[in-house]
Amino acid sequence: MTAPTLPGLAPAAPTPVAPRPGSRAARMALPRSVDVLKEIAAEYGVCVRPLAMRRTDLDTGLTEVIDLPCGATREDKCAPCAKKNRRLRQAQIREGWHRDDEPLPPPKPATEEQKALILLRGHLEFSRDEASRACQWDQVADLDEAISEVEEAITAEGLRGRVAPPHSTGDEDQGDEDNGRRRKRSTKRRQDAPDLPRRKVERRTVGKTYTAPDGSTYRPSMWLTLTLDSYGPVRPDGTPVNPDRYDYRRAAWDAVHFPRLLDRFWQNLRRCEGWNVQYAGCVEPQRRLAPHAHFAIRGTVPRDILRTVAAATYHQVWWPSVDVQQYTADRPPVWDEDASAWVDPDTRQPLTTWAEALDAIDEDPDAEPVHVVRFGAQVDARGVMPGTEDAERTIRYVTKYITKHTGDCHKITSGRQRAHLDRLWQELRVTPCTDRCANWLLYGVQPKKAHAKLRPGRCKGRVHQRDTLGIGGRRILISRDWSGKTLTDHKHDVRAWVRALLGVTVGLDGVDDQGATVEPVRHAWELARPDDPDVPAMAHRLLRSISERARWRSDLLAAKDRAAQPPSSTSPHGTTHDTGEGLQ
Ligand SMILES: [Zn+2]
Ligand SMILES: [Zn+2]
Repeated sequence: MTAPTLPGLAPAAPTPVAPRPGSRAARMALPRSVDVLKEIAAEYGVCVRPLAMRRTDLDTGLTEVIDLPCGATREDKCAPCAKKNRRLRQAQIREGWHRDDEPLPPPKPATEEQKALILLRGHLEFSRDEASRACQWDQVADLDEAISEVEEAITAEGLRGRVAPPHSTGDEDQGDEDNGRRRKRSTKRRQDAPDLPRRKVERRTVGKTYTAPDGSTYRPSMWLTLTLDSYGPVRPDGTPVNPDRYDYRRAAWDAVHFPRLLDRFWQNLRRCEGWNVQYAGCVEPQRRLAPHAHFAIRGTVPRDILRTVAAATYHQVWWPSVDVQQYTADRPPVWDEDASAWVDPDTRQPLTTWAEALDAIDEDPDAEPVHVVRFGAQVDARGVMPGTEDAERTIRYVTKYITKHTGDCHKITSGRQRAHLDRLWQELRVTPCTDRCANWLLYGVQPKKAHAKLRPGRCKGRVHQRDTLGIGGRRILISRDWSGKTLTDHKHDVRAWVRALLGVTVGLDGVDDQGATVEPVRHAWELARPDDPDVPAMAHRLLRSISERARWRSDLLAAKDRAAQPPSSTSPHGTTHDTGEGLQ
């Protein structure tokens, strides 16, 4: 969906009266050098808010501060990292989509680089834990991004699987299916099995090959869009025809639990199809501000199967009732230190605990899930042939919004749109995000692991923030066996900084796996604080990185020129320039 062109609201061009030389106005008209520095950094693809890591050589004791790219995925935080991330995603989708072999890497002993990365991941974990105990949520978010950056590097270095489960960002932790760690599995609060045929799932992840009458073979893949149900009719600008009858409550709950629904969909589809269907895609808001998801699927699945599975898939939320809001953020329950519980401000009676609330559901023979999420009737699926312009266009389409905040994907230009967003947000503010959400206190229930620091009705969870539209978790969803380890472009790009980070000296040409490091270097890593005396000022670090990058780029261009005897095919590495990365 492209936004209609903006009405003629461009600010009137300022009248060109030259300010008096030397006046304040004249000075203010000069570009600020700090801004130019950032601009150049962006131009050179240098991270503008790097994380300083202190590396100590364990043999010599020498320390050095090394900048780790922040790994932000949003342009408004760090455009160079966000763009790099998008390129990697595009490469990843491209690589995995039409592959015709199974991505099953043989296990090898870990290299020093791999071990160092795991260690680095450990340090980040430590810092994250510290920040989270100090309730420094912005730092936690930053560290999460650094963690995923390192995890990608770990994958690119050829390690399989995850080092550790991701930190729950809301949708992961429903207490219902807490990876076997829950206190007891209730017979009551389970998911009903959907009404679908079931087959044993083969390990196969690649699609079928078809043979044309002329003997040529082809292996098409698919493109799928899954959408949520209607909450009431909407206009072309995404706003409800009748705001008072638009079901904001269901819209909010659906948005919060959408990731779970998608998980169920893939589970059901694999069971129904009998092979390990692989996907890569993203979740983003529609104009009406409800999430939908686009997926590239490897191989083909008959369209009516996709529709049947989508129609049969649902996710039940077995949480306490939220019908009655007993408290408000202005008149909240209070923490009772002696009872170590949240209590009613007047009666001092403790609120129902999470365990009690769930037990009540278990004991009630007529209990119903507090919410059930389903897809809407609209399921779009089509075949895509590998290597076509259609395939490329589709990849660009799926990654179009990934560098933007959810709330920035669609421009809000009218009062009606603003009102729609506000109503949805008001609903999201009081919708519980997880079983630990502080908002449960409004409904007279103490969330799981309740503690004194909760702020009733003011949960910091991402889904409650206005610009997430309830889409709080990961927006990029890629199945485990999507790209395997032969993601060469992806890997190369990541490797460059991995090597720099690890202090491995590499030439610009012929960087390759073997022989890059022979002598094991033993290093200890720690996160350096910006005010540590050995950490140079941010501007100095940026200047240094830009200079390095500029030299590196000209060397690379020179090397390319030298090698450019054969017709210069387009390099997929994208290490130097962002082409065509402007606003689309
Ligand atoms: Zn960055
Ligand atoms: Zn919450």
